[in-house]
Amino acid sequence: MLKGTKLYSILFNKCPRCHGGDFFVTKTAYDFKSFDKMHKRCSHCDEDFEREPGFYFGAMYTSYGLYVATIVTSFVGFVVLLGGDELRLLAFLIPALILLMPLYFRIGRRIWINIFVKYKSTKVKESIN
Ligand SMILES: [Zn+2]
Repeated sequence: MLKGTKLYSILFNKCPRCHGGDFFVTKTAYDFKSFDKMHKRCSHCDEDFEREPGFYFGAMYTSYGLYVATIVTSFVGFVVLLGGDELRLLAFLIPALILLMPLYFRIGRRIWINIFVKYKSTKVKESIN
């Protein structure tokens, strides 16, 4: 259903160009030895995932945005809507953000590369030729 959208590539660890090959080597973000290991190129369409040195520095901004969105949503939900205590929120939020680090690292990188790479269906390419 989502195939062909950037959300598909971001959520399901797929190549932003073809949505066929995997972006990160491991399927899960919680394999702490290799959660950050990426394929150098797409196994399906040969898209270069290491576009230039320092390309993924920009991914810090996207993962920072995810942290800010999580903190603001938690604050509004817990403190403003439910009338909860800020210290209880912090006691929950700090460990939660630490646990979310590998997940947000990977999602941040996939969002970043999806800003620069457009999806190109390989089926359309075959029908033209
Ligand atoms: Zn690909």
